[in-house]
Amino acid sequence: MHGTVCINDMNSTKVVNDLFSEDFRTDPYWWDDVDQPDLGSIVPPAEADVVVIGSGYTGLSAALQTLRGGRTTVVLDAETAGWGCSTRNGGQISTSVKPGFNELSAKHGAELAFRILKEGHDALTWLTRFIADEKIDCNFDIPGRFHAAHNPTQFARLAARIGQEPAGLETGAYLVERSDQRAELGTDTYFGGAVFPRHAALHPARFHRGLLTRVLEGGGTVVCHCPASDLSREGPAFIVQTPRARIRAGDVVIATNGYTGALMPWLRRRVIPIGSYIIATEPIAPDLMSRLMPKNRIVGDTRKLIYYYRASPDRRRILFGGRVSHSETDPRRTAPRLHADLIEIFPELAQVRISHSWAGFVAYTFDTLAHIGRHDGVYYAMGYCGSGVSMAGYLGMRVGQRVLSRTQGQTGFDDVTFQTRPLYSGNPWFLSPMVAYYRWLDRQNR
Ligand SMILES: Cc1cc2nc3c(=O)[nH]c(=O)nc-3n(C[C@H](O)[C@H](O)[C@H](O)COP(=O)(O)OP(=O)(O)OC[C@H]3O[C@@H](n4cnc5c(N)ncnc54)[C@H](O)[C@@H]3O)c2cc1C
Repeated sequence: MHGTVCINDMNSTKVVNDLFSEDFRTDPYWWDDVDQPDLGSIVPPAEADVVVIGSGYTGLSAALQTLRGGRTTVVLDAETAGWGCSTRNGGQISTSVKPGFNELSAKHGAELAFRILKEGHDALTWLTRFIADEKIDCNFDIPGRFHAAHNPTQFARLAARIGQEPAGLETGAYLVERSDQRAELGTDTYFGGAVFPRHAALHPARFHRGLLTRVLEGGGTVVCHCPASDLSREGPAFIVQTPRARIRAGDVVIATNGYTGALMPWLRRRVIPIGSYIIATEPIAPDLMSRLMPKNRIVGDTRKLIYYYRASPDRRRILFGGRVSHSETDPRRTAPRLHADLIEIFPELAQVRISHSWAGFVAYTFDTLAHIGRHDGVYYAMGYCGSGVSMAGYLGMRVGQRVLSRTQGQTGFDDVTFQTRPLYSGNPWFLSPMVAYYRWLDRQNR
């Protein structure tokens, strides 16, 4: 392994230079071939039918609907367009609902559990069609996911979960025993796993750029470096205050997910921002890539603090992500830990350096479900719990339909209360001990 990186304690981690390639960057790998769009310093209009706050997948997808429904629409972002998770993620696409049928049934009854899980399936189908219909060039592919069991108990749980899929929610998943694992993934670390053949992959920044282009072509106004700092009512209208203008809006959509701030305390109290971190390796030899990723699957594992990884679309690099911290904002500090975890899975990468390391904030919720709705007249969709590539665009689309008063805007999430907890105001003080506890749990071999 390179140098003398200490990985035991985030606070004392020393970053050694030879872990990083000469061209090392702390920007997402995806930004190498998709520039951050420069939309100039547009002054927002004084009035719009709809103001959307946040320009990621949720916000742009909502805007596309309202524009195509004939409403003038302004999208605001505090940073550049798509600066949040939507150009930083791993580009892995699943059915995006974390709890399984049994857990949801116990809480909500079988009928609602079915409808909630169906939304995840619909989100995947919607994204596949949307990319094709809109002709978005974003390396979309369906390589399938290998969901790796990090201990024998988790393998048994995977088997049970697959065996209990209710009629109408079949995923087509099948088990892979440990003895056959190398056909899926070049490691012996795991205890077998399951293949989800319909799970897909894309280039997140290219997908975002495609959405942005459609919004601009549809006549939308996208204003960057323009945070919404205050939201108030003036009769039936909303007033959105920004540093550059005061905008009078008929409807407002909040699409800020893991970056939800003080604008609407009711929402901030309901989402838990958690850091998610990725490294990209420098290019590796094609024969090594063929050994490590023989079927080009996207990969996730069963740990509480999940690792998710894949090959880059050109199959030259491994992109390896995890929840190594909950709030660290310096990707140079998280890179050594991720690198150590990567080579535990693939020892053959020990001498391979890191070319990119970056992070973003995802939004968890107290029930680990996404939420969509309207509060005090303001529409919102958020809380994708780290699985938003399909769900964010899909629920953004549904929010847009709601703004247009269309019945298709209804979803299985509508009947689930968006919970908070007493004394929680948006600062997740409880994460540090939770992350430590989960790390301990993940190390148990049962
Ligand atoms: C490292 C990482 C890896 C991930 N990997 C995956 C994956 O492989 N698969 C998957 O399904 N999901 C993944 N996700 C999650 C997924 O990217 C998100 O769920 C999804 O992009 C959320 O989109 P969004 O539009 O709701 O939010 P975002 O894309 O985060 O956009 C929110 C925007 O709101 C803006 N904003 C905030 N406050 C204001 C304000 N007051 N005024 C104006 N603008 C404001 C922010 O600047 C930001 O641009 C990952 C996330 C991260 C960070």
